[in-house]
Amino acid sequence: MISRPKGTNDLLPDNIWRWQKLEQLIREECARFNYHEIRTPIFEETGLFQRGLGEATDIVEKEMYTFDDKGGRSMTLRPEGTASVVRAYIENNLQGTGLPVKLYYLGPMFRYERPQAGRYRQFHQFGVECFGSSEPSLDAEVIVLAYSIYTKLGAKNVQLKLNSIGCPNCRPKYLEKLKEALKERRDSLCDNCRKRSETNPLRVLDCKEKDCQPAIAELPRITDYLCDECRDHYGKVKSILKLWNVEYVEDSRLVRGLDYYTKTVFEFLVESLGAQNAVGGGGRYDGLVEEIGGEPTPAVGFAMGIERTILAVGDSWQKDPDVDLYIVAIGDTKDAALTQLKLARDHGLKAEMDHLNRSVKAQFKQANRLNAKYCLILGPDELANNLVKLRNMQDGEEIQLSLNDWLGGIK
Ligand code: ATP
Ligand code: MG
Repeated sequence: MISRPKGTNDLLPDNIWRWQKLEQLIREECARFNYHEIRTPIFEETGLFQRGLGEATDIVEKEMYTFDDKGGRSMTLRPEGTASVVRAYIENNLQGTGLPVKLYYLGPMFRYERPQAGRYRQFHQFGVECFGSSEPSLDAEVIVLAYSIYTKLGAKNVQLKLNSIGCPNCRPKYLEKLKEALKERRDSLCDNCRKRSETNPLRVLDCKEKDCQPAIAELPRITDYLCDECRDHYGKVKSILKLWNVEYVEDSRLVRGLDYYTKTVFEFLVESLGAQNAVGGGGRYDGLVEEIGGEPTPAVGFAMGIERTILAVGDSWQKDPDVDLYIVAIGDTKDAALTQLKLARDHGLKAEMDHLNRSVKAQFKQANRLNAKYCLILGPDELANNLVKLRNMQDGEEIQLSLNDWLGGIK
């Protein structure tokens, strides 16, 4: 017996309804915010992610599923959505469709990670990307779109963390100070942080090692080094969030693992999830489109982890009944049952009947198992008089209706 690859999941019917519910809400919210779906390939040329994410990121360093195809080209299963959407934006000249271009995606991502609760090798993300404007109102819009989905899902303890990580004007000065401070504290840092101090010093702020925390707490804060433009932008994002009644916590240690972010960064956390508590995050990436070969184009986006979001809130959701109507056939009434089954489905009811020649008792049991709201009971004597019985499965009440007219009885 061959089992599924490590770190992957089979999504089975007893849970998939949560996925469908979340996906439906995502599509509805995106429509309200005027974001439009884009579907890009699951694999891309490896160079796209190397350029788009940066060589010194966890993803590119150790998490990518990279393979040579039969033509000898290096391909990679997408580890995230933004680089592909940016590539598609440039390649399809989407800027010509009118700015800002507001896109969303939903689908599987692949990262070679150590599997644990909330961390998988194939996982799913919903994300939005908005191109063509550096206005803080769009940073706020992306945040509010995500926030609104978490709220409508019933997530109560979602915390929004917010920061600004500056731009190519102000960040180099900060990075210099940061590197100096890191050098002074080299002995108090883990191996990983020592390495990052050279390759990607911002990422040290992100380290989860307990022993590194005292040193990290003493490091300079990026928000003290923002240029006027970045400070003003950050202030406006915050005031729009206030205008829209979105609560946030500022966290000057918040950085994103990806190199292309500028100005706004944010993350959504759910404490009850434990170690894997980030359910989504995003930010502004004004440098990425140019990095990937397009015209300089400001952009802002967000990605939500679907598995973690469902882990965080999915238990409180109510599943819709599997069927509205179960047809119980007594005696030799199967043909009549098949006719009524088709009729019910044609009229938009979720309907089911027995296909295993079950006893009448077992048919009712099956109806209960499926949470049927009604049972349509077909007995030979009644049918001979063009009559059927309709049982309300909640209160057990039964009424007799004409065979031609029982649908009206349900309505
Ligand atoms: P983490 O710090 O937990 O590794 P990340 O910074 O790598 O997260 P992003 O690249 O920002 O995550 O992806 C956005 C969201 O996707 C995360 O907040 C998380 O909810 C989800 N996510 C990321 N990696 C995984 C994974 N391996 N399995 C399940 N969900 C994931
Ligand atoms: Mg990660």
